[in-house]
Amino acid sequence: MNLHFRKLNFWASLFITIFIVMVLVVFELILKQSLFEKHQFYYVVAVSGIIVFVLSYVVLEFLFNTYAKKQIQRISNMISDVETEKKEDLDFEKLEEKVSDMKEKSNTEIDTMKAMERYRKEYIGNVSHEMKTPLFSIQGYVSTLIDGGVEDLQIRDKYLKRIDKSVQRLFNIVQDLDMINKYESGEIRLEVSSFDINTLVDEVVELMEMEAKKKNAQIMVQKTRPILMVSADKQKIFQILMNLVSNAIYYSNKEKAKIIITTKKVKGKIKITVEDNGIGIKPEVLPRIFERFYRAESSRNRRKGGSGLGLAIVKHILEAHDEKIKVKSVYLEGTKFSFSLNKADD
Ligand code: ADP
Repeated sequence: MNLHFRKLNFWASLFITIFIVMVLVVFELILKQSLFEKHQFYYVVAVSGIIVFVLSYVVLEFLFNTYAKKQIQRISNMISDVETEKKEDLDFEKLEEKVSDMKEKSNTEIDTMKAMERYRKEYIGNVSHEMKTPLFSIQGYVSTLIDGGVEDLQIRDKYLKRIDKSVQRLFNIVQDLDMINKYESGEIRLEVSSFDINTLVDEVVELMEMEAKKKNAQIMVQKTRPILMVSADKQKIFQILMNLVSNAIYYSNKEKAKIIITTKKVKGKIKITVEDNGIGIKPEVLPRIFERFYRAESSRNRRKGGSGLGLAIVKHILEAHDEKIKVKSVYLEGTKFSFSLNKADD
C-alpha cells in the first residue's frame, strides 16, 4: 500500500477504535453502581479498554486492508481485462503505474487514430480531386457533342479522342489505386527471374526518347559493366524505371536537361540511380513524396496525366523486394533516386 493510504488507514482505524473504547467506557459507567465495587471498577475499565482497543484496531486495519485490496483488484481487472493472478502483489503504487501506462497507451492510440482520420480525409479528398478533372472534361465534351457538335465530323472526332484520353486517365488512376491496395494487402506475388539490368535500362531509354526530345532533355546511361545480372521481378523493375525516368524528364526545368542513369555493383548488390538536374524538391516535403497523391509543387504546376501515385507504387514494389527507394534532392538544382537489387549469378 502506498504511504498516503497507510496513513489514512491508520488514522481511520485509530479514530473508530477510540470511539468504540469511549462507548465501552460510557457503558461501564452506566453499569458502575450495580455491578462493580469502587476499586474493581477502575481495574475493569483499564483492562477492558486495552483489550477492546487492541482488538478493534487490529480488526479494523484488517477490514480496511482487505476492502482496499479487493477494490484495487477490481479496478486492475477492469484495466487489464484479464484477472491478475498474483492478487496479493497488487497495491496502490502498482495500480497507479498501471493506470499511467494505460493513459499513455490510450494517448498514443488516440494520436494514431487522429492521424489516420486526417490521412483518410486527405486521401478521399485527393481521390475525388484526381477523378474530378477527367470527369469534368468528359462531361464538357459529351454535352457539346449532344448539343450539336456531333454534326461536325471534325469536332466529333477531336472530342471523342479527348474523351478517350480522359477515360484512359480515369482508368489509370483506378488501376494504380487497385495495385497499391493489392501491395498493401500483400496480394501481389513477385515473379522473380534473372535478367540484365543494363538491357532493361536501354529499353526504358528507347521508349522515353520521344518524351525526352519534347522537353529537350538528354538521357545518358553510365554502365560500370556491359552486363549486370539482377534477381528481381523484371516487369515491376521496368515499371519503376519508367516512373523515375518520366518524372526526371517531366520535372526538368533547364534549357539543357540532363538525366543520368547509372548501374553499378555496390557491396554485393546492384545499385541503380536516376539523377536529373531539374526543379528539385524542397527538403521539408522530401519525406512525403512517396505518399499516395502527394505532390511537391502547388496544383498550378501539377503534372497533367500524372496520377500522383507513381512514387507510392515504386516504394511498394521495392518493399516487396525487401529493398528501399532513396532520394536526395537540392531544390532548384536536381534530384537523385536510387535503389538496390539482389545480384544474380552471371
Ligand atoms: P506525379 O508525378 O504523378 O505527380 P509521383 O508519385 O510520380 O506523382 O511523384 C510525386 C511528386 O514528387 C511529384 O508530384 C513531384 O512533386 C515530386 N517529384 C517526383 N520526381 C521528381 C523529380 N525527379 N524532380 C522533382 N520532383 C519530383
